[in-house]
Amino acid sequence: MKFVPTKAPLTGETLASLTERLAARGEPAFRAKQILEWVYKKRARSWDEMSNLSKPLRLWLDETFDLVPATLLLDKQSQDVTDKLLLELRDGSLIETVIIRAPQEGVGVDHSRKTICISTQVGCAMGCVFCASGLAGLKRNLTAGEIVAQLLHVCYREDALTPRAKAEMASFDNIVVMGMGEPLANYDALVQALAIVNADWGLGFGARRITVSTSGLVPNILKLAEQPIGVRLAISLHGATNEVREKIMPVNKAFPLEKLLPAIRTFGETHGRMVTLEFILIEDVNDSLEQAEKLRDIALDLHAHVNLIPYNTVEGLPWRRPSGNRLERFARVLDAARVSMTLRREKGHDIDAACGQLRLKTERDRGALGPDSAANTEA
Ligand code: SF4
Repeated sequence: MKFVPTKAPLTGETLASLTERLAARGEPAFRAKQILEWVYKKRARSWDEMSNLSKPLRLWLDETFDLVPATLLLDKQSQDVTDKLLLELRDGSLIETVIIRAPQEGVGVDHSRKTICISTQVGCAMGCVFCASGLAGLKRNLTAGEIVAQLLHVCYREDALTPRAKAEMASFDNIVVMGMGEPLANYDALVQALAIVNADWGLGFGARRITVSTSGLVPNILKLAEQPIGVRLAISLHGATNEVREKIMPVNKAFPLEKLLPAIRTFGETHGRMVTLEFILIEDVNDSLEQAEKLRDIALDLHAHVNLIPYNTVEGLPWRRPSGNRLERFARVLDAARVSMTLRREKGHDIDAACGQLRLKTERDRGALGPDSAANTEA
């Protein structure tokens, strides 16, 4: 399951680790910063572009490092609010990175806010019943370099599309670690990638604009709370009682609400930030008034924000999106108690539906997955 690349991904190196490797071959300390500036600020796509480095050094870099350890296979633009990048990793694995545009009022779509949804694993072991990413199981963890590489590919694309190209900052507004995989099951690589994304010498992207989403791995929620970086946390709750949650999320058996809710409280209190509770509404599964009332109580108790996401019905699957009336009825319970809440009314499932399908389709076309996976869909 552990993938060992033939060349180390440069996007997985920190300033300290790169400085150390360069020092071993007699390079001065400032060289690492120079190289990382080429990668993250000037967005160099090849070693030859790094014109202030000597030729022997560029040759050594080429022999030692993979500059960006992923190749863009497909850039699927939509009329909708999401675009998807399908990336191929060095072992042939496929991952999706999703760009979600949220148009701002009175401003054209091209100038809308952009949220990038990145993956942390190839597949997923958590087995949430509504999710395509998990149905084919876990293939492997991504390396830190592969997690960061997704954002660089988005930068290359955005640099070409928008006039604020090659800005010091990355040209998007938020990052959600909510794509394929359970981020906290790949904890070390995740934390290293976040450090690179956040660092001045890296993408320089503010931690407050990064949200890590988890299905509820309690020990690692508590570990993440201790990290100084201070990212935001979202919990895929999807059930307000153990009985309902257990039906759709096997993780609830190991970490039921009695364990999960105190961990969420600890995270929120440690960072002084509101945690988000994600709640995909599925007809006759978790859309009852009783669930709404329990969710209201949990949210009030934890001072959490609730993100209600109507399930996106997929042909051939048993799950359905509740009717508009049922959605409104559910939301009204939270609203009446002044719970901080968002209800996605249009194209509501895009973020969640975005990850997994393109990868599954391509792998099926390649014959990499068995026939059972043909019916997969995702969260
Ligand atoms: S919803 Fe998230 S945690 Fe659950 S199986 Fe899908 S990718 Fe894994």
